Amino acid sequence: MESGGYHILVIEDEQPIRRFLHASLENAGYRVSEVATGAEGLRAAVNQPPDVVLIDLGLPDMDGQEVLQRLREWYRSPVIVLSARDQEAQKVLALDHGADDYVTKPFSVGELLARLRVALRHSQRVGSEETTVRIGDLEVDLAARIVRVDDTQIHLTPIEYKLLTTMIKHAGKVLTHRFLLREVWGPQNSQENHYLRVFIAGLRRKIEANAARPRYILTEQGIGYRFASE
Ligand code: CA
Repeated sequence: MESGGYHILVIEDEQPIRRFLHASLENAGYRVSEVATGAEGLRAAVNQPPDVVLIDLGLPDMDGQEVLQRLREWYRSPVIVLSARDQEAQKVLALDHGADDYVTKPFSVGELLARLRVALRHSQRVGSEETTVRIGDLEVDLAARIVRVDDTQIHLTPIEYKLLTTMIKHAGKVLTHRFLLREVWGPQNSQENHYLRVFIAGLRRKIEANAARPRYILTEQGIGYRFASE
């Protein structure tokens, strides 16, 4: 079973969505707890810490962002936000507050399960010592610092290499502009979005077969980038 019986806590006030999530996740082999308010969610997480939290940002009793921040004071496992369309600023804020990812309502079960797999895989992999990463035709030997596309070695500048390996380390997860700028250029450059655009374009020209229709470096409009995980 892909889900390994992981325990998911759903914090969502809309009952139809909660029911839908409960049924779909149980059907995929997850164990599910559900609550309708932020306060109950925080209590439930403490009483029986889940492997993943799914949280709606629009809750009746507390701001979902506050629930997320309070959870992140101690909770280390993945948190995925359920958010409405056209709430890019809210999504960026949630990611800055420690959410791992988001799905935009209305979402499909397939999409949610894919996000869960990525989040769980990522949290299980922390500390592993894989030195070669392969995604599609792309191969990165992290120990030797060699990048190959279709078995052909390509040359990256140090910044391009750092940008690529930062994204690969978080493959499948959405990464905000600010996160990438901080990781690659350092904290003083966290507002310089144009650096990032220029280097992403350069990296796409080198690793993508068609830079206009990227297969690896996907744009998350208004938020950042996501490196394809498979
Ligand atoms: Ca809601």
